[in-house]
Amino acid sequence: MTAKITMPLKVREQQHVSVFLSGAVQGIGFRPFVFRLAQELGLTGFVRNSTNGVIIEAEGSPQKVAAFLKRIPEEKPPLSFIQNYQYTLLDPIGFSNFVIRESDEGSLKSAVVPPDIATCPECLAEILDPQNRRYLYPFTNCTQCGPRFSIVEALPYDRVNTSMKKFRMCPDCAEEYNNPDDRRFHAQPNACPKCGPHLELWDAKGKVIATRREAVSQAVDNIKKGKIAAVKGIGGFHLFADAHNEKSVQLLRKRKHREEKPFALMFPTLKSIEAQCRVSPQERALLLSGESPIVLLIKKRKIGRLKAVANSVAPGNPSLGAMLPYSPLHHILMKELGRAVVATSANLAEEPICADEKEALQRLGGIADVFLVHDRPIVRSIDDSVVRVVMNRPLVIRRARGYAPLPVTVRTEGPSVLAVGGHLKNTVALNVKGNVFICQHIGDLQTEQSLQAFRRAAMNLQGLYATSPAYIACDMHPDYLSTKFAKDSKLPLIKVQHHHAHIVSCMAENRLDGTVLGISWDGTGYGPDGTVWGGEFLKSTLTDYERVAHLKSFMLPGGDKAAMEPRRVAAAILYELAEGDWKEFKDLAPIKSFTSKERKVIKDMMCKKVNAPVTTSMGRLFDAVASLMDIKQVLRFEGQAAMGLEYILEGARTDSAYDYAVDRNPDGGYILNWTTTVQGIIKDVRKKMAAPKISAKFHNTLVEMALDIAKRVGEKRIVLSGGCFQNK
Ligand code: ZN
Ligand code: ZN
Repeated sequence: MTAKITMPLKVREQQHVSVFLSGAVQGIGFRPFVFRLAQELGLTGFVRNSTNGVIIEAEGSPQKVAAFLKRIPEEKPPLSFIQNYQYTLLDPIGFSNFVIRESDEGSLKSAVVPPDIATCPECLAEILDPQNRRYLYPFTNCTQCGPRFSIVEALPYDRVNTSMKKFRMCPDCAEEYNNPDDRRFHAQPNACPKCGPHLELWDAKGKVIATRREAVSQAVDNIKKGKIAAVKGIGGFHLFADAHNEKSVQLLRKRKHREEKPFALMFPTLKSIEAQCRVSPQERALLLSGESPIVLLIKKRKIGRLKAVANSVAPGNPSLGAMLPYSPLHHILMKELGRAVVATSANLAEEPICADEKEALQRLGGIADVFLVHDRPIVRSIDDSVVRVVMNRPLVIRRARGYAPLPVTVRTEGPSVLAVGGHLKNTVALNVKGNVFICQHIGDLQTEQSLQAFRRAAMNLQGLYATSPAYIACDMHPDYLSTKFAKDSKLPLIKVQHHHAHIVSCMAENRLDGTVLGISWDGTGYGPDGTVWGGEFLKSTLTDYERVAHLKSFMLPGGDKAAMEPRRVAAAILYELAEGDWKEFKDLAPIKSFTSKERKVIKDMMCKKVNAPVTTSMGRLFDAVASLMDIKQVLRFEGQAAMGLEYILEGARTDSAYDYAVDRNPDGGYILNWTTTVQGIIKDVRKKMAAPKISAKFHNTLVEMALDIAKRVGEKRIVLSGGCFQNK
């Protein structure tokens, strides 16, 4: 450190620089950082937040100013993210000192709201220190950590615009908040046991059983006894159950109506995760990151019986979704518990996560035995994010807490567009001057609750950034509820083909322009020809596409029902192979799984083409293969069959693949014909070839198909997107 120079004396030449920064630069100690740097360099002037970012005016010698401009991006606070960095040199004004000015209310709100960040090591040390005034205080935070997006009501990000406004800081907290040298300088949610939020433990009727530390202890006792606790966290409620208690986990499954879909786990320590799962350095870094997501990890083969979590946490699944405590409350709870808990979003299947304690009592009444609540309101409900490492890169499977609402920057600024997303795994996005703000994962728009959450998120994004969109973008599917919402808005509509949207999203994320070959494979999406698309090769630009190849089509007897019953898809594929006759396949698992009456109904649907839409879906082809191999005939959750095929690949080594054909499409382009692929699989199944090998051969075939079409189309840049590419 160089010595502090408070007033540069005898400076011959002064320079004045005006700096504008945007990105995630508010609420993470950016202004104090600038203040300290200016002090160190002996510059005068000021720094302030604006609705768009941070503005700095600084004066000093040219060398000092140059050092200042160089060091800002180099030494910026770890959580900040500078998107735009502009400066102009002006005539000196003669500031007398360097100060932090109050925020101003500008016109256009495009400042980036920081995401919610996991408890930092300093704060953690404080809450574990019996001498500290924040000892075991569950709402400890600082400029480096704590809630952000989940508590912001409006911009700029100041305490009066958060749900902390109702708590008046005590003199000690106010002193920290106003001291530029303090870690809590302008930490908007700053609080302590004297002045901040507090815990209560309620019974299932909402009666207060205990408060403060006693509330934690009693919640822990309940969990240890096998009870289910609803715990109010950062972005909503979790349901906590002892992950080592088979009965408790099964009880949670029963009450939550969740049969087989894996539960996420919260572990007390990294060591306790490593006792159960294989953890690579990259996965470890993700677990310990400020985003603190759920990381999908492979279970260790050999775990001591006492250490292993209950089987029903993730039945038949070789991986576990693990996360570490990310709020002080979680740290305190997990320390007292000392073992892994199921920490699943508190909701009924596919409904949005519950965020308000009164609502929680009502909605979770039959699920949770006790409620650990507090009086810091959650402005926005946000699920935990889910990440897995694929090919040494993190692949975000559910983008929510820790990531939302960081924007994707696009090159074209254009008018503001609100994009309302699809039907499953819905997310809403708003383009404000080249920043595409993506809201938290909302879920499937199948219940009134998720539909309400969707509407709230759409309105909320516009309110937060004070932006009225000029256009609204929606899926082409006429029946999606998000599409109906778009139509009702009366704004000019931009209808986007589902798979083209997948490709363009990937292009935007990777800042690609021009033409690419987009390979978009997923379960279902509306095709403009009236069929269900899902195995698509689209030669795409940012605005347009040409369908250059697709899978050979097949029927989905029963429509939506077929998406949950792989055996129906297999039956349809076999129907195509044998021209409507299943006699030669009656030894195969999917055909055997139906009663003769069911077989007749399904065949009738296809013969008469009633309730049997035509599809080119790759997701469904995975289902059919899983069914032929008798991995899964009826699904308990979406994607289960493809996951099954992926899991059994573990350890399989083969370069061989099945045959396939590339047919000329009379309408132009190519059709990938899977007839010989399926015939090959049937042959191997009948030979009782090991399932991992069949799965590997099938996956290899898909790789060869993709490569084949790519060579024929001749585009060098290939973009892969769609649900199938979440498959490792
Ligand atoms: Zn902190
Ligand atoms: Zn206080």
